[in-house]
Amino acid sequence: MTVLHAVCVFCGSSTPPDDRYRDAARHLGATLATRGIDLVYGGGRVGLMGELANAALGAGGRVTGVIPTGLFSREVGHTGLTELREVGTMHERKQLMYDLADGFIALPGGLGTLEELAEVSTWSQLGIHRKPLVLLDVDGFWDPLVLQLDRMVDVGVLKPANRGLVQRASSTDEAIDALASTELTYVEKWITDAER
Ligand code: AMP
Repeated sequence: MTVLHAVCVFCGSSTPPDDRYRDAARHLGATLATRGIDLVYGGGRVGLMGELANAALGAGGRVTGVIPTGLFSREVGHTGLTELREVGTMHERKQLMYDLADGFIALPGGLGTLEELAEVSTWSQLGIHRKPLVLLDVDGFWDPLVLQLDRMVDVGVLKPANRGLVQRASSTDEAIDALASTELTYVEKWITDAER
């Protein structure tokens, strides 16, 4: 079991025209708040990120944004959060987001979202942290990525045990429950404690 005090959510800094994406972001934000789970995210007020954060705040939740000073202008930074942590670089930002969270949910997003979900699952694979990740689907959004991951296993570049580090859910509660019930006992430890 993973005790979920805080969940970090990755999602698009754009809002797709199809309302189902916006609704999914709002629903996740509100559900985290009502389940008493803090939200950690990239600190923006734009796109699905803003929808997510506003819904969590509106439902009485605690929201921490982590944003690099200067990299994103104050215009896109959310000024109404419970806490806004400013860091120096994108690397520091991702490190702090990962440190503050007990698990990760990826809503639909673009390259930034893809980078973050690939990085947190790689870190679990390496044993740098042991924190679960779930892709939360909207209208089959993650189908092509799931196919690609299965193809990686088929050709032998991804171990089946590590394939399990990227879970998938089709509803908000399913995603949160999957995080809470994950035991990452199968993670290979490739690096020593001194290297962490
Ligand atoms: P993307 O999926 O390319 O829209 O990028 C979204 C992801 O990258 C989020 O999970 C954020 O952590 C980060 N990100 C991208 N753009 C911004 C922004 N304008 N403000 C804050 N974070 C952002």
